[in-house]
Amino acid sequence: MNKKNLDWSNLSFGYTKTDKRFVANFKDGKWDDGVLTEDDKVVISECAGVLQYAQTCFEGLKAYTTQDGRIVTFRPDLNAKRMADSCRRLVMPVYDEKKFVEACLATVKANIDYVPPYGTGAALYIRPYMFGSDPVIGVKPANEYQFRILVTPVGPYFKGGVKPISVRISDKDRAAPNGTGDIKAGLNYAMSLYNIVDAHNCGFAENIYLDPKTHQYIEETGGANIIFVTKEGKLVTPKSNSILPSITRRSLVEVARDYLNIEVEERQIHKDELKDFVECGLCGTAAVISPVGKITDHDKEYVFSNGDKMGPVLTKLYDTLTGMQMGRIEAPKGWIVEI
Ligand SMILES: *Cc1c(COP(=O)(O)O)cnc(C)c1O
Repeated sequence: MNKKNLDWSNLSFGYTKTDKRFVANFKDGKWDDGVLTEDDKVVISECAGVLQYAQTCFEGLKAYTTQDGRIVTFRPDLNAKRMADSCRRLVMPVYDEKKFVEACLATVKANIDYVPPYGTGAALYIRPYMFGSDPVIGVKPANEYQFRILVTPVGPYFKGGVKPISVRISDKDRAAPNGTGDIKAGLNYAMSLYNIVDAHNCGFAENIYLDPKTHQYIEETGGANIIFVTKEGKLVTPKSNSILPSITRRSLVEVARDYLNIEVEERQIHKDELKDFVECGLCGTAAVISPVGKITDHDKEYVFSNGDKMGPVLTKLYDTLTGMQMGRIEAPKGWIVEI
């Protein structure tokens, strides 16, 4: 190993070009073997399906250096499965789930010098993605596809300590009632951009979306699921078929139930219930948990007062899950995959 000389603790959550990326092509009804290449440019038809009709989906996971110096990923099999679900919904050819995991590990291995050291808070972000690459002009699925995996070192999500964020309940929707909210399709994020820029301009870090049919129930934000803690110390998280099934959220639910003896409810959460919760957090691969300090719903404000830090229950969950990822706490079988 010959670690790159990067300022690991000060990296942003942005793109840094690394040495190698994985590329596989789907043509004549089958995937080729795929290769690791130094070429970071994509060359496709000007009329490619992805450019005309946004036929693309993606995944996101991380590789970490553990306390004892191993390099690991967290539950990549669930990313493989979710990507397969996204592909089926977008009429794209599934990339074999086992091969997906192997290709992720191979891409990390080929960029091993970019995996941030233990203790820096940084990680190597892994971004698998697929898109329609041959020309379509009538609205239909492409015939040819490219599956790629790029990796990029990313810094700690919270620099200088975790700070609770302020978010708003959005008037816009991120998903349709029977739409594509439950898959990681590029189109879901394109249509969220206007609203996130507007939220930032209004002084909010994120938008909380309500269920798109009745606008009564809490769903999630543009890029993270939501968890709440009740006065009694129960963990409550929304259930809906238009929420993206976050691997972090599903893991936190298991950690709460099986490791911390915390009661968990996965159910519809009416927005009027917000006043009953004492802790709130956003969860996803990027930050694991970001504490929410305040939710603004037009003329109403809900404050989750834990001073300037994460509340006690979310802290316990955060410490346990990140402890597993960093190899300080034994994880359930199969969660940690060594490279
Ligand atoms: C990716 C994503 C999440 C988080 O999922 P993880 O698997 O935990 O990273 C949550 N919500 C949306 C909309 C997402 O795109």
